[in-house]
Amino acid sequence: MKLFTPPMPCRELVELVTAYLDGSLPRRDRRRFEAHIAGCEHCTTYVEQMRETIELTGRLTEDDLDPDARDELLSAFRGWSEGRSGS
Ligand SMILES: [Zn+2]
Repeated sequence: MKLFTPPMPCRELVELVTAYLDGSLPRRDRRRFEAHIAGCEHCTTYVEQMRETIELTGRLTEDDLDPDARDELLSAFRGWSEGRSGS
């Protein structure tokens, strides 16, 4: 049985990274998450940075995410994808 799994945008991945790393992400989303990072260098780096942060602090909550830093990251993602798709 093949379930339809829509592609996960970078923005959604950033929202889900904490759930992914603490293991609370549902299997279906986890699969989409892993499919995304397999093809997205930006998000692979982001996930690795988050993983290191968790290893250093022991845990990671939404409160640990600096909103400004996240906005910057999302801007970087946006510019990156536009740079790829634009000609
Ligand atoms: Zn991505």
